[in-house]
Amino acid sequence: MTYYVSKINTIDHKSETCVNCGKKDVEKNIVIEKSGMDTLLCPGCETLMIVTNHSANNLALKVKEGEKVTIRHNVKN
Ligand SMILES: [Zn+2]
Repeated sequence: MTYYVSKINTIDHKSETCVNCGKKDVEKNIVIEKSGMDTLLCPGCETLMIVTNHSANNLALKVKEGEKVTIRHNVKN
């Protein structure tokens, strides 16, 4: 599946709620290819949330704001 990412935020733990718009229908257990990090994506406001303790500036992300990202669901969860 391909999603457009308009914003990228980091969060320090998995949440049921989008940090940007507050909706509770975020896509969980998705994996950005080769990132190795847990990510959540809000289909409503197109915010990608990365579960990490590090600042987004320190992450070598494969996706940037304003780009499309291909995701797959993590079959292990
Ligand atoms: Zn949202």
